[in-house]
Amino acid sequence: MKIICIGRNYADHIKELQNERPSEPVLFMKPDSALLSNGKAFYLPEFSNNVHHEIEIVVRINRLGKHIQQKFAHRYYNEITVGIDFTARDLQDQLRAKGLPWEKSKAFDHSAALGDFMAVEDLPPASQLDFSLHKNGHVVQSGNTAQMLYGIHELIAYISTFFTLKIGDLIYTGTPAGVGKVEKGDELTGYLQGNKLLDISMR
Ligand code: ZN
Repeated sequence: MKIICIGRNYADHIKELQNERPSEPVLFMKPDSALLSNGKAFYLPEFSNNVHHEIEIVVRINRLGKHIQQKFAHRYYNEITVGIDFTARDLQDQLRAKGLPWEKSKAFDHSAALGDFMAVEDLPPASQLDFSLHKNGHVVQSGNTAQMLYGIHELIAYISTFFTLKIGDLIYTGTPAGVGKVEKGDELTGYLQGNKLLDISMR
């Protein structure tokens, strides 16, 4: 399986990092070794002094697809959750300044925390999903998929023009504003439509 991530997909997050608004989706990938399942601890890596949380809606592909039309995209996934795209922001800033790829800062071991999935039939439409991240019991990020620059179905269509989507592939769909540094001892919990699906402690 592969993990495809979308950068800069919420206007308020683009603003907080002073990035440019993209004219098409920004894609990057993580290897399967980046996965961190719900309930596990996240060990802060020694190569960064500024690891950020990014809460994101995650969809799991359940059907092989290539050149998927947007109007058929809903047929290619049946489960949704929230995940955290852990980002070594200091390293990412250095790489970006040099025009280098982001992998070391974005795709390192356990950088893709993944919540427990919910079936799409138990959720509102993909374009109206509320989600949030709490740090030590306080809301630090909240968003709704209606605020995405590129919606889930548009993303599936776009991604599948470059990469064949396979069963089990995950799409991390971008983060809203409120990203911030995590510290040892922090407890991060992720919610989708009020359902607690993710709980990760920082070590
Ligand atoms: Zn992200």
